[in-house]
Amino acid sequence: MKTRIATLGAVLALTPFAARGQSARKHVDRIFVNGQIWTGDDQRPKAEALAVADDKILAVGSTAEIKALADSQTAVVDLNGKLVVPGFQDSHLHFPGKSVNEVDLHGAETLQEFQRRLADFAKAHPQLPWITGHGWGYSAFPSQTVDKKYIDAVISDRPVYVSERDGHMGLANSKALQIAGVTSKTPDPPNGHIMKSKDGEPTGEFKEAAQGLIYRLIPPRSQEDLYQSLLQHSDEAAAAGLTSVQEAFTDMGAFPIFERAAAANKLKLRFRFAPGILPHEAGEGRGGAPKNHKLTKYLTEADLDSYRKLRSEFPGPLLKFGAVKGVLDGTVDARTAAMFEPYVGGGTGIPFWEQDDLNKTVALYDKEGFQVLLHAIGDKAINMALNAFESAARTNGTSDRRHRVEHAEVPRLSDLPRFKQLGVIASTQAMFASPDATVLENFAVLLGPERASHADSFKIYDDAGVVQAFGSDWGVFPFEPLPAIYCAATRMTPQGTPPGGWYPAGRISVEAALRHFTRDGAYASFDEDIRGTLSPRKLADLVVLSKNILEIPPAEIFNTRVLLTVMGGKDTYRDKDFQ
Ligand SMILES: [Zn+2]
Repeated sequence: MKTRIATLGAVLALTPFAARGQSARKHVDRIFVNGQIWTGDDQRPKAEALAVADDKILAVGSTAEIKALADSQTAVVDLNGKLVVPGFQDSHLHFPGKSVNEVDLHGAETLQEFQRRLADFAKAHPQLPWITGHGWGYSAFPSQTVDKKYIDAVISDRPVYVSERDGHMGLANSKALQIAGVTSKTPDPPNGHIMKSKDGEPTGEFKEAAQGLIYRLIPPRSQEDLYQSLLQHSDEAAAAGLTSVQEAFTDMGAFPIFERAAAANKLKLRFRFAPGILPHEAGEGRGGAPKNHKLTKYLTEADLDSYRKLRSEFPGPLLKFGAVKGVLDGTVDARTAAMFEPYVGGGTGIPFWEQDDLNKTVALYDKEGFQVLLHAIGDKAINMALNAFESAARTNGTSDRRHRVEHAEVPRLSDLPRFKQLGVIASTQAMFASPDATVLENFAVLLGPERASHADSFKIYDDAGVVQAFGSDWGVFPFEPLPAIYCAATRMTPQGTPPGGWYPAGRISVEAALRHFTRDGAYASFDEDIRGTLSPRKLADLVVLSKNILEIPPAEIFNTRVLLTVMGGKDTYRDKDFQ
C-alpha cells in the first residue's frame, strides 16, 4: 500500500513539467559534476558527472550532458576533479561491535592516563552498575605490575573490570573482588590464575579462565546498549565510505535493534544477515556436528519456517536475509585451521564437521535456495567446503547459489579452479595480508614457506577467475576500506615494511581491490542489479575521495580521506572541509 502512494506521488510530481510543455521527465534532485567517476561498470568505466533522482542514479555522463538534466530545484555538487567510486561494501563483519558503554584504554601509556580515563568515564556514566573496558597494557604500570589499588584510588563505590589488550587477562578493583567473593582462600579454577601478592591477597589480576569468576557477574549488554553501539559504529562505517555490509554471524537476539534503527530512519548502512548453522543440541560444543546426530538437528521445520519468513519479510535493499553461516575450522595462529599437512611444529587442526554431515546439511539449505557461507581457513577445510557445495549442486541440480568460502586463507592450489567451476565466491579480508609481527613471526612460520607463499594471496583468486568479495572481519580488524586497499596493492604494513611487500606476487591492482570492495560485494549479496556500480537505475550509493587512488602512489592512499558518503541519494557522512 505504501508503495502505491509513493508511486502516485512521483506521477504527480511530474505534472508541472508536462504543463509547461516539456517532455514528462523525472525531477533531478542532485547532480555531481566536474569529477572523475570510476563507475565499476564495464559499459562506461569512466564519467565526469552523474544525476540522482530520489534514491537512484538517473544518468551518468559528461558534465554538459548531466547539467542539461537539471532544473532550478536541482542541487549541484561541484566535485572539482575529485574521484567518485561506488559506495564500499564490507562482505564480512560483525555488528553491532563493541559496547559504547565501555571505557577505551587503548593507548593509555601512563598510570595517570589510565586513572584519568577511568575516572572520567565513571563520572560520565553514573547509571552503569559496572564499569568495564578494554585495552590497557602492562607498560603503563609501575614495575609493569598491575594492582587493584590503582583502580580503587579513582573508583571504589562501583565494581570495575578492565581487560588487557589481548583479552587474556584483566584487572578488577576491590569492589568487584568483594562482589565476586574472591579472597586469599579462593583457589585457581582450571586453566586460570587468580594472581596473589606475597602475603596471599588477590591483586585484582585475573588470567585466562579465572576471568570467568568476574565475567559471570557483569550484566549482559542491554538492547539499548546494542542499539547505541549500532548507531555509533554505523556512523564510523559511513565515515569510512561504507554503504553496505554483510553481517557474518547474526545473533538473532540482537536483530530488533536493526529493525528499530530502520524504523527510526537512522540506518546508515545496508545490512545483509547470515544467522548461524548451529546444532540444536550442543553436541561436543565445538560449533560443529556431533557424531551420529540426526540431520534434523541442523535444519528443523521451525528453523526453515523462520528463515523463509525472514527472507520474504526482509528482501532488502536496507535489511536483507537469505544467507546462513557455518564454521568449519579455527585459525592458523591458534593451529586450529584444518590442514592437509601438519603445521611446522606439528598438528593439522581438526575440522569441526564430518564431510558427510556437512554435505547433507549444506544440501538442505541449498535446496531451499539459501546461500551458504562457510568459514574455512585451512586447505583441508576449504577443500571440504568446496566438496559440500559440489555435492549440493549435484544432489539438488541447483546452480547460481553463489555459496561462499569465508576467509579462504590457505587454499590448495589445485582447488582454485573449483571455485570458478562451482560459482563459489572467495570472501577474503584484505587486511589479513598486512605483514605485521604476528603474520611474519607466527602465521607464516607455522605454515612454512610453501604454504605461506600463497596464503592470503588475492592474486591467485583473481587469476583463477573467481569472484572475490573483500571484507574486514571487524570487530577484530578495522573496517576502513582505504588502508585495506593499500594492503592488497602493496602487501606492506602502513610503515612500508617489508620493502617490496610480503610475497609480492600476491599483490593486486588498486582497481582490482576497488572492484572487490564494490561490485563483487554486491554480486556476493545478489544485489548486482540494484547496486555495486555507478550506473543508471542503480541505487545512488557513492563515495567522494580526496585523492584519486587509482593514480597516486599506493603509500598516499593513507593520506586519502573520505569527503562524502551517499547512500540511496542521502548523505550519510560529509567531511567538514567538503563544500
Ligand atoms: Zn568473522
